[in-house]
Amino acid sequence: MTHLITEPCPEGREDLGAYRARSGYAGLERVRAEGGRWALEQVEAAGLRGRGGSGSGCPLWVKWRRMVRAVVTDRYVVANGAESQAVSQKDRYLLAHFPHRVLEGLLIAAEAVGARQAFLYVRGDSPAALDGSRAAVAEAAEAGLLGTVTVTVQPSAPTAVSGEETALLDALAGLEGYPQPKPPRPEEAGLRGCPTLVQNVESLALVAALFRQGPDRIRAVGTRTCPGTALFTVTGGVSRPGVYEVPYGTLLRDLLRIAGAPPSDDILAVLPGGLGSGPLRPDELDVPLTYEDLVALGTTMGNSAVVVFRRAGGSLLELVRENVGLLAQASCGQCQGCKEGHLALVRALQCGDLQEARARAEVLLYGRGNCDLPTGTAQFVLRALQEFPGPEWQASRV
Ligand code: SF4
Repeated sequence: MTHLITEPCPEGREDLGAYRARSGYAGLERVRAEGGRWALEQVEAAGLRGRGGSGSGCPLWVKWRRMVRAVVTDRYVVANGAESQAVSQKDRYLLAHFPHRVLEGLLIAAEAVGARQAFLYVRGDSPAALDGSRAAVAEAAEAGLLGTVTVTVQPSAPTAVSGEETALLDALAGLEGYPQPKPPRPEEAGLRGCPTLVQNVESLALVAALFRQGPDRIRAVGTRTCPGTALFTVTGGVSRPGVYEVPYGTLLRDLLRIAGAPPSDDILAVLPGGLGSGPLRPDELDVPLTYEDLVALGTTMGNSAVVVFRRAGGSLLELVRENVGLLAQASCGQCQGCKEGHLALVRALQCGDLQEARARAEVLLYGRGNCDLPTGTAQFVLRALQEFPGPEWQASRV
C-alpha cells in the first residue's frame, strides 16, 4: 500500500528522533534556505488540494497566494485538527501518531506566507491528539526547529461546529467558537483582523511530504487532478473500522474491501464524506475517490468519513431519520433558519411525509446559515429521496 502521509504506521507516537530518521524536517531546512516564495511555487506546481471538511478540494496555493497579497506585517497560520463529526477520526489520528509531520507542514506554511505566530487547533476532547501535539512542539522547540515562529497548541471549543474555519478564529479570539458570515475570508481578515491561513492538519502533513519526498513521488500516485494520497475514516457496518491512507482515484469498493465491508447485497447505503454527504447505493460503489467523480454523482468527499449502513441495520427511512437527528443536534443554533429548518425536517420525517421532507430540505436548509451544516443536511436528504427507489424507503429490518 502507498503511504505518503502516515508511513510507516507505528503503534504509538512517532517522536522527533524517529521522524528525523525518515528525513523529517529536511524539507523545512530546504524551505528556509530557498525562501518562502520558492516554497509557494513548489506547492502550486505540485497541485496539492486541501483536505478540510468542506470537501471542495480547493488547491492549497489559492489560500497561500491570498495571504502573501495582503499588505500587512502581522500574519497567522493555523493547523486545523478540530474535525467536527465523531465519524471522522483522521485528523485526531494524525495528531496522535504523526504530529511532527503536521508541525513541519505548519512551519513550512508559516515560512511561505511570512507568519511568525502559529497555532495547532486540536479537538479538546481528544487527549491523545493534544498530548501528541504538545510533545511534538516541545521536542521541536528544544531542537531549535521552530526558528522565529511561536507555536501554540490550542484545544478546540466544545461546539459541534468548532472545526469550521471562522468558528475556529472566533474561539482563538476568546469568543464562543461559532461560525461567522463570509466574506471576509480568514486570509483577508482573520485573527485580530489580520490575514490568517487556516489549513487542515492532513493538508499540512501532505505539504511536509511534498518537501520531504519531492513532487515526483507525490505525482506518481493518485490522479492528474488529485495527486497523492488521502486519509479516509471508514466506520459503520465494517469489520475493520479505522483510518486508511489510499491514493486518490482508488475505487470506493476497494477501500471498503480493505476495511472489511460486507458484500454489496448486504449494504443499504454508503456515505462517502460524513453525515452531510449524499448517500450512495450499493451499485454505485465503483466510483473513484476524487472530488470530481463524487460531485458528478451528486455527493461529496466532505470530511472523508465513509459510513457503511447494512440492510440488517434498518430501513432507509430509519437511517435518514437517525442521520438527520444527529445533524440537527450539531446545529449551534445561532442562525434561526438552520435551527428551525432542522426541526421542521425532523418532524416531516417522523411523520413519514417524504414530500414535505423534500420541500423543507430544499427551501429551509439548502444554502442557508453561516456554515455548510444545513446545506449538507439538505444534500443528504435530497440525494436519498432522488436516487433510492421507493421500496428501499419502506423496507424494514431483515
Ligand atoms: S448554519 Fe447552523 S450550525 Fe452553522 S453557524 Fe448557523 S446555526 Fe450554527
